[in-house]
Amino acid sequence: VVLSPTLQKLITSLRLLPGIGQKSAQRIVFYLLEHQRDKSIQLAENILDATKNIKNCINCRNFTEYEKCQICSDKHRNGRLLCVVESPADVLAIEQMGHYHGLYFVLMGHLSPLDGIGPKELHIDQLQRRLIKKQPSIMEVILATNPTVEGEATAHYITQLARNRNIKTTRIAHGVPLGSELEYIGSDTLTRAFSRREEVD
Ligand SMILES: [Zn+2]
Repeated sequence: VVLSPTLQKLITSLRLLPGIGQKSAQRIVFYLLEHQRDKSIQLAENILDATKNIKNCINCRNFTEYEKCQICSDKHRNGRLLCVVESPADVLAIEQMGHYHGLYFVLMGHLSPLDGIGPKELHIDQLQRRLIKKQPSIMEVILATNPTVEGEATAHYITQLARNRNIKTTRIAHGVPLGSELEYIGSDTLTRAFSRREEVD
């Protein structure tokens, strides 16, 4: 072991990031210390700031520093449409598409029993309260979970909940190859997937 404990600690922390292994973590650490000391301090402060101040929106669970996120606070949004997605990145992708003006519910994942992720971890109870809530009551739930096995299972689960409340439920069309994630789909494909959404039965 030739690395100082301080360096080793930082490398170990970076390895928490998706796709970053030992080699990449080392390269990042050496780069930051050698070339970007000031920016590294900024980076550390920004991470600290975000982890302290960003929480889940009380309505949709998207990340926000406010109690209610900007989308949920926007009076011009159509409160009768609720689009269910897996991640904040999906909200961004759909917002960039520019055609959807309803609200969201962000699951922050998908059902994955083997990883111990069930309805409780996805805060499905909160989604259920949204479905029950009047003023305005929800007319359509649009399922925009990823077209993966877990995403489909999650969509199926939510369909049952919506059906119990007699709420129309649609699934975005699969112009997207199975296993791909919404955030990587082009805006045109996503627009098509939305406009060709089909009622689930
Ligand atoms: Zn919100």
